[in-house]
Amino acid sequence: MSKTMQAAFLIEPGKIELREIPIPEPGKGEIIAKVHTALTCGTDLKTYRRGHPKVTLPSPFGHEFSGTVYDVGQDVNGFKEGDNLMTVFSAPCGNCYFCKRGDEHLCAELKNSLMFGAYAEYIRIPEPIVSKNLFSKPHSLSFRQAALLEPLSCVMHGIDEASPSEDDTVLLIGAGTIGLLFTAVLKTFHPKKLIVAARGEERIAIAEKFGADIVIDAAKGDILKEVHNLTDGMGANVVIESTGSKEVWEKSIEYSSKNGKLILFGGLPEGSSVTYDAERIHYDHIRLQGVFHYRRKDVTAARELLINGGIHLEPLITDEYSLGDLKKVFRFLDDKQGIKYAILP
Ligand SMILES: [Zn+2]
Ligand SMILES: [Zn+2]
Repeated sequence: MSKTMQAAFLIEPGKIELREIPIPEPGKGEIIAKVHTALTCGTDLKTYRRGHPKVTLPSPFGHEFSGTVYDVGQDVNGFKEGDNLMTVFSAPCGNCYFCKRGDEHLCAELKNSLMFGAYAEYIRIPEPIVSKNLFSKPHSLSFRQAALLEPLSCVMHGIDEASPSEDDTVLLIGAGTIGLLFTAVLKTFHPKKLIVAARGEERIAIAEKFGADIVIDAAKGDILKEVHNLTDGMGANVVIESTGSKEVWEKSIEYSSKNGKLILFGGLPEGSSVTYDAERIHYDHIRLQGVFHYRRKDVTAARELLINGGIHLEPLITDEYSLGDLKKVFRFLDDKQGIKYAILP
């Protein structure tokens, strides 16, 4: 009889179930990893609350993790049993129209490469990920930090589009996990001023710790007034929207300077529309840029930053729980308690 493991499934919105299932066996090109640390993520919370257009329920749950090679399939090169791993949960196909143009984040096969099931003792890593987006984890990097590779890769993509310089005043709106990661990374670019608009004491404190020069309490302060005060009325050269709120998307252009860049990072629900002042876009030469997912170069940049970037991201992980406590952890998240939780199966 094959050995079994505990694995969490999202059955329907709001309903997590722990199941005892066989430990998967690796197919050709695949690796079975023993999960060391999984991290909760805003996308998981969204899926928990209302399902997800790209996820068919019931589904194995969780996608951010680090771990160790448990079993190696045929034709896998470069990894052996016991190796420590860090990874992201998708990989580009390399052959489609978009991949060939270097737009791997738009890969036509992306959906087929997605890996779910990090809230489990073991997880199957599909061949495309093994061959393109799986990396060894150096000893110097903790499993907790290594598990941040996926969200940090998304952020590195946003940073690449924003390309902040030392002359820029940067305004970041939203201080969830992604916004706080942006804060830490932006700081390494030494912008002239880094302004963060955040809600909630915990997030404000972390934004300050991560190097924001000014944190505006978005619940109380007037962002427009503050940004104008801080920039002699010019506005921010780079504005990054990281809230996923339609209202903030529309407002964010008001904070932009002439010739500014507006990075629209927080996705809105399907079917949403937004309205912008066309005069501002045209005569003030403002660039609007949506950012989705990541390319391999963003993953590599994120890994490099985690290993050698000297950034300290521990404060993002509010607490640590066992797999058996997963339901409780999602109740915390649903109640807006904490940023990210580490789940140790
Ligand atoms: Zn995630
Ligand atoms: Zn592709």
